[in-house]
Amino acid sequence: MTRCASCELIVLDPREEKPSQTCPACGIVRKKALSEREHRCGCGFAATRDQASALAMLAAGLRLKGREPSWAMRSAKPETCSRAA
Ligand SMILES: [Zn+2]
Repeated sequence: MTRCASCELIVLDPREEKPSQTCPACGIVRKKALSEREHRCGCGFAATRDQASALAMLAAGLRLKGREPSWAMRSAKPETCSRAA
C-alpha cells in the first residue's frame, strides 16, 4: 500500500533572504563573519548559526505564504535590537 503525504515546496533565494545573517525571531539582519558560529540577537533569540539559518529560511517561506512563524516576536522591531550593525 502506498501512502502519500502532501507537502509544499517553497523555493527561496538565499542570496536575497540572507538566512545566516537574519534573526529568525525578529527579522533583523546583522552581518556575521563565517567564524561566528552562534547566533545571539538583542531580541533574546540564541541558537547555533546553522539552526538559526534553517529557522530563518523556514520563517521566510511561511511569511511568503502569509503565515507568521510561531516563534517570531511580533512586537520586536529591528530598531530595538541593540546588536544591530
Ligand atoms: Zn532577533
